[in-house]
Amino acid sequence: MKNSVTVHAPAKINLALRVGSPRPDGFHPLNTVFCSLDLYDVIDVEQADELSLELVGCDLEVDEHNLALRAARALQTRTGTNHGARITITKTIPVAGGMAGGSANAAGVLVGLNELWDLGLTTSELAELGSELGSDVPFCLMGGLAIGTSRGENLVPIRPGFFQSWVLIVNDEGMSTPAVFKKYDELRPEPHEPASIEEIVAALQGSSIDGLAGLLVNDLAEPAFHLRPDIRRTFERAHGSGIATVLSGSGPTIAILCTSDQEADVLAEGLRNDGMRVLRAVGPAVGTHIVRSN
Ligand code: ATP
Repeated sequence: MKNSVTVHAPAKINLALRVGSPRPDGFHPLNTVFCSLDLYDVIDVEQADELSLELVGCDLEVDEHNLALRAARALQTRTGTNHGARITITKTIPVAGGMAGGSANAAGVLVGLNELWDLGLTTSELAELGSELGSDVPFCLMGGLAIGTSRGENLVPIRPGFFQSWVLIVNDEGMSTPAVFKKYDELRPEPHEPASIEEIVAALQGSSIDGLAGLLVNDLAEPAFHLRPDIRRTFERAHGSGIATVLSGSGPTIAILCTSDQEADVLAEGLRNDGMRVLRAVGPAVGTHIVRSN
């Protein structure tokens, strides 16, 4: 067994997010393209008698609903281990930002504790356990670029043709994913399947980033904008910069794809001068991985 393990757990954005009407089990079928970013939370796990969690860098109250603690408990139940751990998560991924921060943390805890407690679960066993915690957890484990179907947990990796340079406009006031889906159902009550993502998948495997122009799409943007007119205004201001602008997941983060790192740096500087909170990121990045173990 190890004394302590450190894991990097990256955020994701959806380059395409097509949504269908809810299934009998209440979940919305999706056709999505996930892309992980080199923007990550750092997860430290250390041996301890009991399980505990501390979040650094955000004001989220820790309780038993926290996905990181639920992941640790799920791993204990699945393996029957009676080990504890002190978990510390240093947050960089915006909370409730549409970038799968909670799912990334669950993935990171699964990977970290599997190593710390020497459990020997395979990545697919961790993904199966993770999918019960949240639909985005399997992708957070895998990383890179992938097509997601069903609830987003059925994954097929895509070989990326190029790197993407992103400017992310983040907002301190997060959004509730269930509220955005509820508004989606109100706006589109008729039964329907999620639209195809074939065109963007082909473009992502092409040789030029310019091929993505006009193809980034998010069916949750309109319902999110209904709930948050301020995000619509920010989106409209950002639209036209870079190659394409897209709302990330259920918002409120707005992602602008740029032709180069240099273009992204200049754009980020301009938006900061306009008073916006801006992050830079590159995708696709590797998935959840151990950076230190001893
Ligand atoms: P998604 O893109 O998967 O919809 P998100 O990025 O919009 O997720 P999260 O950052 O995962 O949102 O947070 C959504 C809610 O999940 C938060 O409001 C918070 O109450 C809860 N949550 C539980 N565990 C965590 C965690 N470890 N980090 C952040 N949020 C968490």
